[in-house]
Order: sequence, then C-alpha cells, then structure tokens
Amino acid sequence: MAHAVKELYPDVRLAIGPPTSDGFYYDFDCPKSLTNDDLPKIEEKMREIINADRPFVRKELSREEAVTFFRKRCESYKVELLEEIEDEVVSVYEEGDFVDLCRGSHLKSTGDVKAFKLLSVAGAYWRGDENNKMLQRIYGAAFPEEKKLNEYLDFLEEVKRRDHRRLGKELDLYSINDEIGAGLVLWHPRGAIIRKVIEDFWRDEHQKAGYQILYTPHIAKLDLWKKTGHVKFYAENMYSPMEIEGLEYEIKPMNCPFHISIYKSHLRSYRDLPVRFAELGTVYRHERSGVLHGLLRVRGFTQDDAHIFCNEEQIEDEVLRVLDFTLFILKTFGFSDYDIYLSTRPEKYVGTLDEWERATNALRDALEHKGLKYSIDPGEGVFYGPKIDIKVKDCLGRPWQCSTIQVDFNIPERLDVTYRGSDSKAYRPIMIHRALMGSLERFFGILIEHYAGAFPLWLSPVQVSILTISQHHVEYGMSIMEALRREGLRVELDTRNEKVGYKIREATLLKTPYLCIIGDKEKANNSVNVRKRGGENIGEMSLENLKTILKEEITNRR
Ligand code: ZN
Repeated sequence: MAHAVKELYPDVRLAIGPPTSDGFYYDFDCPKSLTNDDLPKIEEKMREIINADRPFVRKELSREEAVTFFRKRCESYKVELLEEIEDEVVSVYEEGDFVDLCRGSHLKSTGDVKAFKLLSVAGAYWRGDENNKMLQRIYGAAFPEEKKLNEYLDFLEEVKRRDHRRLGKELDLYSINDEIGAGLVLWHPRGAIIRKVIEDFWRDEHQKAGYQILYTPHIAKLDLWKKTGHVKFYAENMYSPMEIEGLEYEIKPMNCPFHISIYKSHLRSYRDLPVRFAELGTVYRHERSGVLHGLLRVRGFTQDDAHIFCNEEQIEDEVLRVLDFTLFILKTFGFSDYDIYLSTRPEKYVGTLDEWERATNALRDALEHKGLKYSIDPGEGVFYGPKIDIKVKDCLGRPWQCSTIQVDFNIPERLDVTYRGSDSKAYRPIMIHRALMGSLERFFGILIEHYAGAFPLWLSPVQVSILTISQHHVEYGMSIMEALRREGLRVELDTRNEKVGYKIREATLLKTPYLCIIGDKEKANNSVNVRKRGGENIGEMSLENLKTILKEEITNRR
C-alpha cells in the first residue's frame, strides 16, 4: 500500500505502518487530502504491484547509512525514527524501487498477497501526540483467501450496525456535545431509565451480598490527594485544583479515600471484618481528546466501585465471593463468555515480596477453586498489588475489559487504616478494590453494542407500546396503558392519527419489545392483540394473560 501511495503521490512522506490485531495501517504525510474516494485507485495500483510478483529483499545497513539513505529520499519521519533507534545495524526491505525501514519478517514476494481491502482514511497525529503534525492514516485488511476477507468485511458491517454512537442517537439514549464538553455524557430519558434499572438492580444485589451502600462528594481537599499519593503518581489524569476560601480542592479521580474515611470514622475490631463498602461513585479523569470514544472512553464516569477491608486470612474467601458475584451480574446482563487474567508483581511495587506472594496465591487459589480458566499477565499488576481482570465477550466475540479485583497493600498504609486484633493491638487490614461493570457509561456502551439496541425486556426503556387503530380506540387504549403502568411496566400509548402500519414501523425502529394493537375487536372482547419486536405475531389475548407473560420475562431478566 505504501508503495502504491508513493507511486500515485510522489510528494508523500512515509511515517509508520504496522500490522494491527485486525489488519494494518500506514500513516502518510501527504500534501493532497485523501478521502475514501481515493481508495479504489490505490487498490488498483496495489493490484499491479501484487501481480508483478516482485520479491521482498532484506538488506542490512548501519544506522548511519540508513539515515543518509532516507535523508536523500526526503523521508524525514524515517530519519527521526532512525535517530532514536539504539541498534547499530538496521534492516530495510526492498521491492522494485520501493524501500522501507522494517524489522521484518516479511512475505517472500508481493504475489503472496491474496486478498485485501482498504477500509478507511482517518487523521492521526504523528506519534499520537496532538502537538505534532496531523497525518493521514489509511486502514486496510488482508487475508490468505477471499472467503476469509469477505467474512471479515461482513463482521465490520455488523460492528458498524451495532455502533453505540449511532444507536445512541437513533434510539435517543444519550448525547455528548461541544457546548457541555468532550467526554461528558448527557443521559437522555430513554437512556437514563435504563441506567436507573441497572442501578436499582446493582444496589439491591449488593445489599443482598453483604455490602453497605455509600454516597460521597465529588471534590475533596488537595491535601487528601497528596496523602494518598495521587498528586504524585496520578497527576496527569487529574484536573487542576480549584480554590475555595483559600484552600485548594480537587475533583476526585477515585472513590477509595472517601471510603477509607468512612471506615476510619469508627474504631474497627477484627470481629467487624470484612467490611464491604459499595458506591456508584462518579469520578473525573483527564483523557486526551484524541482517545475519547463515545461512551467507551469518557472524562466523567460512574464506577460501580466497592472496597473490602479484611484480614489476610479472609482474602481468598472474599475473592471467591467477588468472583461469584461478578459472574452472576455479568450473566444477568447477557455475558457468559469471558477471558480472565491474573496480573502479577510489576517491576516497581510497594509492599514486601512475602505479601505479594501470599496475595497472588490467594487470587490464584480462588480462580482454581472455582475451576475458572485464566491466563497469567506477568508484571501487569498495579504497583500496589496483584489483580484479576475479567474481559467479557460480546455476541461478536469482541473482548471488553469490565471487571477488576485488585488487592492493595499501599493505601491502608498511607492513610493509616487499622483494626483491633483479639489482643487489642492495631493491625493493618488488606484492602480489595473491585468494580464489576467498570463504569456505567462504558458498560452501557457495551450493552448497546451487544444487543444492537434491542435490550431485553427488563432493561428496555419502553416495554410495551399500545397502538390504536383509530380515534374510537383511544379511551380503551388509555385504560390498558394505566392498567399496565399500575403493574410497574413502562408503557407508551400512540394515539396519533396515523395508519397502524406506520405506528408499528416506528415502534419497531425504536426496538420496543412488545406492541399491543387495539381495534374494534379488541375493544369489544376486552383484549389486546400482541406482536413481538422480531415481528412474531402472538395474537389476541386477555390483558391478564399479557401481564403474566411480561412479568415472568422481567422477573427472570430474560
Ligand atoms: Zn479503590
């Protein structure tokens, strides 16, 4: 592709072009502004190069030789890269008159490329830094056979169809706009009601699981964040402090210190442990504008956070409980496939080797006890302790990082958290941070894509739409709506002077799970005519019958 682009636009300068997990891209500094309309032309040129079946030849040069070579060709980005490479010898690959800096390995010949497609053009800052020049990135995909490529293109279509940003707009669930600010989510009524259902479910289940629910403020004194170490280790994710009556305050990037403060409001004894505090806590973190992405990467979000204070003997049992709880919650939302990772001690860490070993063993034992398959992520633990991460897989098999369970040796020490042992001496509890959904915003984005906006009944913003055939049925429709609303169902009544076919189409676009059509017959029989979202016609039934069907489906969260 780079060769083709270079032939078509000789003034282009080459930046970098790596393979990715699902294809490849190349960044170009091109005087002409490229669009998707240019891609077929580039593909055609690529086909010529492929058909020529020219071998890729590897050559090794000293770094200085390479710098001179690329400088002569005005490839300033390659020169910049070379100037930072520490190797004395570098490799280039050559094909026809095209030469690129590359470590290899490589296909033997251009003719080995069997099936490819260029997908899109996008802007990308050189080295991902918004202070650098904006380059043009072309994305593509390549496969050993046409069939595989077509499967992948179908998959991309499906990804597009499920894009939560598009569906969020179409279904009127949420918005993010420039007036409020990037990465700050506005939950519209149809999205907010889903969030309320999720929150109610979350709080109820946490109470059943022995957690106590907390609420904490959005700001705290800067001194607190100094004590916790955030100002030192987490500054780039925090917003600037604000001054209130001569004291500096900071918007919270995490909920932990607040929970600790509540823990410390009482003298805790070994008999009180474990203490489990949970909060749907809203935090604000600075993310660069370039990485913000719909609901998946935002600047203000609500974590489904909890902190468990326990002693060392209790870790394994607590982690077991959290694992059970996590898998139950994820399953309720329709996720039963996941990858689990156990992350171990990184190079920089606090705590003793002994503490790390015991905590890591406790996490591992809990996973093995549950018979859960997991992979070890060596050195990927947080500096304060080992962790378990769970990535759920959506219906397209895409993994999403949601749940995390982290052991922390650091913060109880820094904030002097203690409990009294049976010998009346003070001991340090172990603290476990955990989030099951991660953040409500992100989880909502994942849910939208997983269900393609067709939420299960218990989550649907509108569960039943009543559609009247004519003005004669409005009064009867009202009585049905009220009867269903009294049962706690979310119901809408469409009495507009429109054809019922039109009303059905509209409710279908909004992915309403149940439609009740009301006409003369239904009014006379005191019944409803029921259609399901997928088009299935259940037919006429009594209102009582419909209530039973709906309640069963909602109670079981099917
Ligand atoms: Zn925490």
